[in-house]
Amino acid sequence: EADLALLEGGDDDDEHGGADAAWPVLAVVGRPNVGKSTLVNRILGRREAVVEDKPGVTRDRVSYPAEWAGREFTLVDTGGWEVDVAGIDARVAEQAEVAISLADAVVFVVDATVGSTDTDERVVRLLRRSGKPVVLAANKVDGPRGEAEAAELWSLGLGQPYPVSALHGRGTGDLLDAAMDALPEVTAHGRAPVRGPRRVALVGRPNVGKSSLLNKVLGAERVVVDATAGTTRDPVDELVELKGVPYVFVDTAGIRRRVHQTSGADFYASLRTQAAIEKAEVAVVLLDASEPMTEQDTRVIQQVVDAGRALVIAYNKWDLMDEDRRPYLEREIEKELVQIRWAPRVNVSARTGWHTDRLVPALERSLDSWDTRIPTGRLNAFLGELVAAHPHPLRGGKQPRILFATQAATRPPRFVVFATGFLEPQYRRFIERRLREAFGFEGTPIQVAVRVRE
Ligand code: GDP
Ligand code: GDP
Repeated sequence: EADLALLEGGDDDDEHGGADAAWPVLAVVGRPNVGKSTLVNRILGRREAVVEDKPGVTRDRVSYPAEWAGREFTLVDTGGWEVDVAGIDARVAEQAEVAISLADAVVFVVDATVGSTDTDERVVRLLRRSGKPVVLAANKVDGPRGEAEAAELWSLGLGQPYPVSALHGRGTGDLLDAAMDALPEVTAHGRAPVRGPRRVALVGRPNVGKSSLLNKVLGAERVVVDATAGTTRDPVDELVELKGVPYVFVDTAGIRRRVHQTSGADFYASLRTQAAIEKAEVAVVLLDASEPMTEQDTRVIQQVVDAGRALVIAYNKWDLMDEDRRPYLEREIEKELVQIRWAPRVNVSARTGWHTDRLVPALERSLDSWDTRIPTGRLNAFLGELVAAHPHPLRGGKQPRILFATQAATRPPRFVVFATGFLEPQYRRFIERRLREAFGFEGTPIQVAVRVRE
């Protein structure tokens, strides 16, 4: 079954394992077959072409941690969309819109051997409207002869076309340099605004009850019409006062818009989910209490954890639960949700409204943890005792010593442990577990990185 490999991103002395809330997002968009996947592979340094992927097989990730010239960023890959032949234009545009909305900057890929098409021009209009920085990649320029074709793409009005061959790597360095210039610098404290109402994403697989829950929540409470001073928000976001406290529910238009069940719908749903998570500080992952968990459920949870957002699990459709299913569900929770035991769970019914008032206290607890900072003194007192009682196991006659730790960031809490040698993953997880026992962190992922110091 799908296993959550939490905290597994990156190596032990790599402080930046997995996609991080603090990194800017670069999305690669364009029509099918222009070479997006090939370019993404090139950027990620993957030698095998994604082109080997079987058609129709949905890739389970849309974003990857990436690095260029010492800059770290999250790369969003929209290649691999299965697009219907009928209505291809509309769907490409719709999907590009989602990718653009979650990005800080966009690499727009055009096939220079074909030139610009109507579909390309539709995407250009979206890009313009978004106001996001764009770098234009004129792809499939495999040799100097293609340069003239690339130059024709000045006509798109997006500035200089960068002639590249994603396949052979030609020109991709210059393209990436330009993309890095376009990406905003981001502080260590993440992209989410520090002030203003907390931002909530309702996510989960189709039909789990997102739209019903949203209506229940918005229906029962006062929807705030005038935006709070100093907050900018998209029209797709909904500002609502819950128990006197304003919250922004992000990407509500995306929840209400029904996605057609085509072969690409799964991937499209993932992309939308990613977009909502990126915009939010806390995500409520809805699960259907009346049905077994699916891999798609696990994937959504993983997306939230990877993005470093606070998390609440809501078991919806509790009105359909009969007592016979109860033990089965308990076992499933033990098996599938054991890695996120720290996330608060609420059982609700979006249909009847039962227990939906428990959502807000859970959101608050998770967000409080997400914001928590442990003073360095307390942290090291805790670690000192821990290490004295449970030293790192000997390895090859050597024993790495832990020197010092500090909390490098909040939202989510990230700890850096300085040690004289590599710490085994089990030991790092042990530290994480004990950190949770000592300090709580209910509802937030935490990250423990190790820096080796002699
Ligand atoms: P996507 O649908 O936009 O993700 O496109 P793919 O990356 O799957 O590429 C579509 C096709 O174009 C594949 O057959 C690639 O091998 C080919 N292709 C991609 N980049 C280049 C390039 O720079 N030069 C040439 N000649 N072919 C390329
Ligand atoms: P979404 O695709 O996640 O937005 O799911 P919807 O809100 O559209 O709900 C999908 C279906 O599940 C609809 O027929 C809803 O009426 C039903 N549904 C949603 N929440 C509940 C619930 O708590 N109990 C029951 N019995 N049905 C629900």
